Amino acid sequence: MSFEKFNFDQKIVAGIEACGYKTPTPIQAQAIPEVINGRDIMGLAQTGTGKTAAFVLPILQKLIQGPRRRVRAVIVAPTRELAEQIHDNISELGRQTGLRSVAVYGGVSKFGQLKMFKSGVEIVVACPGRLLDHLDSRDLDLSGVEMLVLDEADMMFDMGFMPAIKRLLKYLPQKRQNLLFSATMPNEIRHLADSILKDPARFQINHSRPTALVSHKLYRVEKAGKPALLKQVIQDKTVSTALVFTRTKHVAKKLALNLEKDGHRAVALQGNMSQNKRKEAMDGFRGGRFNIMVATDIAARGIDVSGISHVINYDVPATVEAYTHRIGRTGRADRTGEAFTFATSEDRLIVRQIEQTIGARMIVQDQVVNGQTEVRSRPSMPVADGDRAGRPAGKGGAKTAGISSAKKGRNGGGGGHSPRNGGPGKATNKPRRQRSAPLGVDFFTQPRRSGAKTGGDRA
Ligand code: AMP
Repeated sequence: MSFEKFNFDQKIVAGIEACGYKTPTPIQAQAIPEVINGRDIMGLAQTGTGKTAAFVLPILQKLIQGPRRRVRAVIVAPTRELAEQIHDNISELGRQTGLRSVAVYGGVSKFGQLKMFKSGVEIVVACPGRLLDHLDSRDLDLSGVEMLVLDEADMMFDMGFMPAIKRLLKYLPQKRQNLLFSATMPNEIRHLADSILKDPARFQINHSRPTALVSHKLYRVEKAGKPALLKQVIQDKTVSTALVFTRTKHVAKKLALNLEKDGHRAVALQGNMSQNKRKEAMDGFRGGRFNIMVATDIAARGIDVSGISHVINYDVPATVEAYTHRIGRTGRADRTGEAFTFATSEDRLIVRQIEQTIGARMIVQDQVVNGQTEVRSRPSMPVADGDRAGRPAGKGGAKTAGISSAKKGRNGGGGGHSPRNGGPGKATNKPRRQRSAPLGVDFFTQPRRSGAKTGGDRA
């Protein structure tokens, strides 16, 4: 299947070519015709599936005709980074269309945003808080909006944006097309969908199941041993670009500073940083100035950086969905990647739930000693149903709008000494075992309940 069958305007075709997209991803193949036909959409898809272009392309196609210099489409996203990313995608795909978009979020002066409103934009990509701010002060008129996109709706719910979304709806005309995208489907999102979507076309891509191209490894460690363990694992030659997740902003900041002191090219991304600092960090990570980013879930949600070889869960995520989102950062666009999870004895329940969701047991690692990783004998089970079909087929080296090529060295480091999924066995030179902190109970001794519930929408 090619993009030709959508009969996009030639100016949009030029944008698709500039991005290096050759074939539509499954979510694009399904959603684009429906959106062009004017239907509402409920898309269950996580980042990495090409969902942004699935709504950006038909929006451009619809807006290319009709009035200019007034807001006709609003895209609401939970984080500034995601809003910027969508805005960049619009700029690149729509470069030749003359359609203009603005990214609107807090933490920066309103001046630039007001100037853009005055000059006339057709698309507003916004975080809910600042958008409402503008609407309440009557700086922005959304009465001509034809299309509304709510992206990463579950994340917006998690971040407490639901009341803001409901209030925002009052500023929009009743008659409009609604597109709702969410990585997961908790009840609250189901209710939201029921209340705003009219007879939606529904798509589910890749629900809650991270890519089969990612291998999942587990390091058992107690809290006090995590800093030393992190230093050990990032010495590994295969770790070319790593995104390290911590539970708190404070730890993200401290870890990044410590890594930097140790001579690593590390940077933090967390909510206490100013917008400028966050942008600097993101640009530096994308451009390869930094190869380790230490981030909180919220700050890193939805970010698209190509070539991340490793996701390191310094702290185990609070929910299975958060694991899925984190892991979505590596193994993207048909590349391979590795996910390392540092788990304490308190994390055993969530680790089990994650394993049930990914359809595999994580490969238990012992600590790395002198560059050697010992793999314990518990084998991983093969991933039951890989989701390769749900992912973009690569971009031929092209970059997403506004995203300069991140370091594209070894991805996933498939080689080396650590066997991938299904790879029981040990490194040939049996390394000395070393634990940086005493382990609690071995939390894999109890039998697993087969077919146990995976934690539903929310773990
Ligand atoms: P998203 O899920 O929207 O965050 O997209 C993930 C990545 O896939 C981004 O880098 C996009 O530029 C890329 N992408 C989107 N659509 C395609 C496509 N049809 N072919 C190749 N790459 C794509």
